[in-house]
Amino acid sequence: MIRLFVAAAFAFSLPAHAQESAEPRWSIAIHGGAGTLDPDKMTPERRAAYEAALQNALDAGKAVLAGGGSAMDAVKAAIIPLEDDPLFNAGRGSVFTWDGTNELDASIMDGRDRSAGAVTGVTTIKNPILLADKVRTDSPHVFLMGEGAEEFASGQGLETAPPEWFATEPRRESLERMKADRLSAFDVDHKFGTVGAVALDMEGNLAAGTSTGGMTGKRWGRIGDAPVIGAGTYADNRSCAVSATGWGEYFIRVGVAQEICTRLRVSDDATGGGDQNIADAVMAEVKELGGDGGIILVTPEGNALYSFNTTGMYRGRATSEGVDEVAIFAAE
Ligand code: ASP
Repeated sequence: MIRLFVAAAFAFSLPAHAQESAEPRWSIAIHGGAGTLDPDKMTPERRAAYEAALQNALDAGKAVLAGGGSAMDAVKAAIIPLEDDPLFNAGRGSVFTWDGTNELDASIMDGRDRSAGAVTGVTTIKNPILLADKVRTDSPHVFLMGEGAEEFASGQGLETAPPEWFATEPRRESLERMKADRLSAFDVDHKFGTVGAVALDMEGNLAAGTSTGGMTGKRWGRIGDAPVIGAGTYADNRSCAVSATGWGEYFIRVGVAQEICTRLRVSDDATGGGDQNIADAVMAEVKELGGDGGIILVTPEGNALYSFNTTGMYRGRATSEGVDEVAIFAAE
């Protein structure tokens, strides 16, 4: 049985005087999936490996922002190491489809002009987040699928990889267990391992990106929320940048990422606690419908926060004001 818990979520908000300071600010948050995470079942070694991977990704994004780089570049810099790390369900280490393949989804959005790119069902691109960005910058479209996306990619100079690169034994075992014991994806995975990043750069621009292998045993060309602009990813300089992880069908139905940004845009209180309340309210809607998962969010004011309704979410955040942390369980 799937148990849902409302987790404590954490807000980082700056005092009003700091927000008025002339110092340019930057902010970044990352995630590596949410789910039923039990501290007693995680070995110290495994925990250390996850924390190191999250810190490594956070550091890559931070370096871009602290050096005056763009939020878009920071999002890509943070997501690439997570795609390359088999601990996470994105790029290498993606979950298996019912047919025993790995089909990857990714999306990215630039809050400056709301330009966006997304791909679904790609099988040969080492870093799907880079292909999503190429769709944004070098095609007249927003969303490409399968073979067409690969054909577009072939002219873009992106690194490719053979099927063995993406396929890992633990993920294959999850599929086999799912089939043998007639389990759901949630029963075998215990967590959603999608990765994502959101960032604010010193120019005041926001960006968001998300990358995933989807859910174990997906079939019939199933597409989750991660590559759907508005559901798994959204960025708009007027409101916020959001990346989601969770049971994609519910996130699509609620339109989670855009719903949070829209509520923030029309809300009077776009600083401090208001951001957290809005994110929590939208995640509560996901829960009411029966879905679970979480989001990361940054605002134009530099707030970086999380909201999730699971017992844990692999996550991290850093800001120019000195915040620098990674965390896994809800109580952290
Ligand atoms: N949201 C993803 C999907 O539904 C899964 C995840 O977050 O890991 O495909």
